[in-house]
Amino acid sequence: MRENTVRLISVTKPVGEHLPAELQNPEGLMAYCARVSSPKQENPNYQKLLNYCALHGHWSVFEMADMTVEIITTRAIAQQIIRHRSFCFQEFSQRYSENKFGYIPTDARSQDLKNRQNSIDNMSRQDKSWFDFAQTQVFNQSYRLYKEALSRGIAKECARMLLPLNTGTKMYMKGNVRSWIHYINTRCHESTQKEHRDIANQIKAILVEQFPSIEKVIAE
Ligand SMILES: Cc1cc2nc3c(=O)[nH]c(=O)nc-3n(C[C@H](O)[C@H](O)[C@H](O)COP(=O)(O)OP(=O)(O)OC[C@H]3O[C@@H](n4cnc5c(N)ncnc54)[C@H](O)[C@@H]3O)c2cc1C
Repeated sequence: MRENTVRLISVTKPVGEHLPAELQNPEGLMAYCARVSSPKQENPNYQKLLNYCALHGHWSVFEMADMTVEIITTRAIAQQIIRHRSFCFQEFSQRYSENKFGYIPTDARSQDLKNRQNSIDNMSRQDKSWFDFAQTQVFNQSYRLYKEALSRGIAKECARMLLPLNTGTKMYMKGNVRSWIHYINTRCHESTQKEHRDIANQIKAILVEQFPSIEKVIAE
């Protein structure tokens, strides 16, 4: 495993014959619920309605459907992701299982001197390849000592302390569409670390494919 990857695991599926065929999809379900007070609850046209709700902050409509994705990333980025407290998570346990994900290399970028939480992609080829080399060295050395610790009978929960932040991990992240909209608008923004942005952009493509009506309310 050498890169941050995302794939779709599940999306809400409406059931029941009371929903007309045109609403038998996750967006149709949100629209059906949004029109709970309307005599035209079964109206099959919902694109404008969903746009209107998002633009006017009628967020509860978007809490009616969920999506789950699988994410493979580093421990450093996983830590940022799980701060999004409105989501539900399941993450690979390094206490229960031996690490099997290797590491994901990060491209070297220079420190932005005006914004401490930003970096700039202007490093020389030599510096980039030195950083690649350093990451490989650190991971290989750490992993060798990690394996040695396990072979000495040291518990996995202790041995994992030898592993660096770029060690890979796998998690499932489930949230409603409201949370996904705000997560994407925050984490696709340039103020987010590039490796996290790469993940958010993959999730954005999946979300828009599953919920095409909300494309306009998601940041470009
Ligand atoms: C650039 C950046 C730097 C950060 N730096 C630090 C740091 O130095 N230290 C630190 O501890 N944390 C930091 N964080 C983490 C940040 O403070 C939050 O903990 C993290 O982004 C999770 O956001 P959240 O609490 O809104 O959770 P979420 O789960 O994303 O959102 C919580 C709820 O709020 C709703 N919501 C969110 N936005 C809106 C909106 N615009 N309108 C309506 N509803 C909304 C969601 O739908 C959800 O229901 C940083 C985050 C970013 C993006």
